[in-house]
Amino acid sequence: KVKESGKGHFRFYSKNMDTDFYNYLMLEAHLRRAIEKNELTINYQPQVQLKTGRIKSFEALLRWHNPKFGNVPPLKFIPLAEETGLIIPIGEWVINHVCAQLAKWRKKGRADIRVAVNISPKQFLDPGLPGFIGKTLRKYGLPPSALEIEITEGAMEDKDNILKMLNRLKNMGLTISVDDFGTGYSSLNYIKKFPVDILKIDQSFVRELQISKKDVAITKTIIHLAHHLGLEVVAEGVEEKEQVQFLRSVRCQKAQGYFFSRPITAEEVEKRFFL
Ligand code: C2E
Ligand code: MG
Ligand code: MG
Ligand code: MG
Repeated sequence: KVKESGKGHFRFYSKNMDTDFYNYLMLEAHLRRAIEKNELTINYQPQVQLKTGRIKSFEALLRWHNPKFGNVPPLKFIPLAEETGLIIPIGEWVINHVCAQLAKWRKKGRADIRVAVNISPKQFLDPGLPGFIGKTLRKYGLPPSALEIEITEGAMEDKDNILKMLNRLKNMGLTISVDDFGTGYSSLNYIKKFPVDILKIDQSFVRELQISKKDVAITKTIIHLAHHLGLEVVAEGVEEKEQVQFLRSVRCQKAQGYFFSRPITAEEVEKRFFL
């Protein structure tokens, strides 16, 4: 609806637009204080080695519970954090929290566990990132092999900066994985140009493996590609036994999904997966 607003000026007006924008500002204001108010937590989702059934790695997934908004899903607040720059302090909080947890698990005898942390595009291009990771690993006495960095194939325009950053992280000894592999515009170019260790097959390919020949072909091809390049491959969003059987038959190394476990708290990880 276009509304006249005096003196020949027009403005676009919709009631929804106002409330949406108001909610957005409210959400931002609350997200800004989420760290100090202890509203952030991390859940861990196991990655199962399909050959042995063993679990040595987990993906860290951020959770935000706010008294006013309840549980806000990451797909809602991560983009907001990116737009507002809050992703830098929040991302640092995640890295610190995960490293503290890894140190506790090492004390309990599980020095073999690795945790993968999601890094969003703005955070990834923060020149302070490698320094912060290095400092935090030292603070908790962790080797770089304890940490994996998950990045998504974003815009390729910033190729030089992406390459520089990846080389720095890789030279530190961190493991690098490409999240949601196959959904970007230049997946093959990405693995051709950048030093990565792991491909994570996007859930959208895994979801319909039983009914879509295309998804079977794509999944197989990604796994073969990974084998030929000497990369490890992880299937995401595995919910059914038949998907597990198929992935084993094509020698996918690891799988992650509700079939094995939802993302759970660190305490639940200890109860269910060790001791
Ligand atoms: P992602 O990195 O691709 O994470 C996988 C998402 O799939 C998670 O959603 C996980 O809970 C969900 N998932 C796992 N197994 C299954 C399954 O079997 N079926 C289905 N339907 N879903 C499954 P979540 O936790 O809501 O996170 C969504 C996205 O938010 C993540 O996608 C990641 O991109 C982002 N994110 C989460 N935590 C962080 C964080 O600490 N930092 C940053 N920068 N991004 C994060
Ligand atoms: Mg991820
Ligand atoms: Mg991700
Ligand atoms: Mg993913």
